[in-house]
Amino acid sequence: METFLLFYFFILGLVLGSFLNVVGLRVPTKTLFKSSRSICPNCKHQLSYLELIPVFSYIFQRGKCKHCQQHISPIYPIIELSTGILFLFSFMRVGLTYELITAFLVVSLLMIVIVSDLNYMLIPNAILLFFLPLFIFVRIISPLEPWYDMILGAVLGYVLLALIIIISRGGMGAGDMKLIALLGIILGWQDVLLTFFLASLYGTVISIALLLTRKWDRKKMIPFGPFIALAALTIYFFGEEIVELYISYFL
Ligand SMILES: [Zn+2]
Repeated sequence: METFLLFYFFILGLVLGSFLNVVGLRVPTKTLFKSSRSICPNCKHQLSYLELIPVFSYIFQRGKCKHCQQHISPIYPIIELSTGILFLFSFMRVGLTYELITAFLVVSLLMIVIVSDLNYMLIPNAILLFFLPLFIFVRIISPLEPWYDMILGAVLGYVLLALIIIISRGGMGAGDMKLIALLGIILGWQDVLLTFFLASLYGTVISIALLLTRKWDRKKMIPFGPFIALAALTIYFFGEEIVELYISYFL
């Protein structure tokens, strides 16, 4: 049963990951419900079902469109595979509890944020508003300790980012602020603070690496959303271990 569920949640994640890519790409351009099948953004050829298999299609086509040979960004199979692995891992961590729904929602939101922010430098309000009632709902059926930590987390996240936006005048946007506030509902005030610091750390290290290796154009802004997403996943799944490690080393 356990093995079957692990396999099941992995496949569920792979398939859903493919859908999350589409959501992240289409919500900002308001085309989510317009055309049913995906097309190659370069040659506009409509993808067949064989070209829509998560991860495998990318590998078999060696990362290129079958028709025009245009390179496909590796971000899409990475999102699919990550969703699969994180769904499987969520089940290993929390088992068949209400918190599993929380974990699936958090992973789904963050995957959409990564795709959308990397492509458009934007975290769509529609996505944040879609997840807001769901996050409140899961924190009512699977509450933090104490229960009002969800409110403290949201308020602290919002205020902290608002202050940083005012002080830094740019660098971070309103989308990042709303995302951190939303994650505060799930994480509570301590973990939302940790998430913000870890996101800044990831952002600094990865930005320097990207600029030094010239993987990123100097003039282009680097979106902050993907770093928030990576940090929130780290803290949501490993927050306790990180704090324990920190205390055992430094205190
Ligand atoms: Zn093409």
